[in-house]
Amino acid sequence: MLVIHPEQCIDCAVCVPACPAEAIIPDTDAQAGAWLPLNRDYSLRWPNIRLKKPPLADADTYKGMPDKLRQFFTPQAGSGT
Ligand code: SF4
Repeated sequence: MLVIHPEQCIDCAVCVPACPAEAIIPDTDAQAGAWLPLNRDYSLRWPNIRLKKPPLADADTYKGMPDKLRQFFTPQAGSGT
């Protein structure tokens, strides 16, 4: 999981079609409301991503899985490995 600071995002929308998991929605989207505080808070806590990496081996297992935020979210930043 990664997060984007809503006020640092310039709303260019380039990332929306580029995300292979279709996991990014504009902050103006009606479904974005619950995600805004989480993105704002954790974008200030977690390290910045500076290098492109291949997807995690089990990424497709979780793609589209309902309720995965409640089931799996942890406030600890990932190791990036
Ligand atoms: S690519 Fe996405 S996160 Fe980055 S500025 Fe554009 S809309 Fe915001």
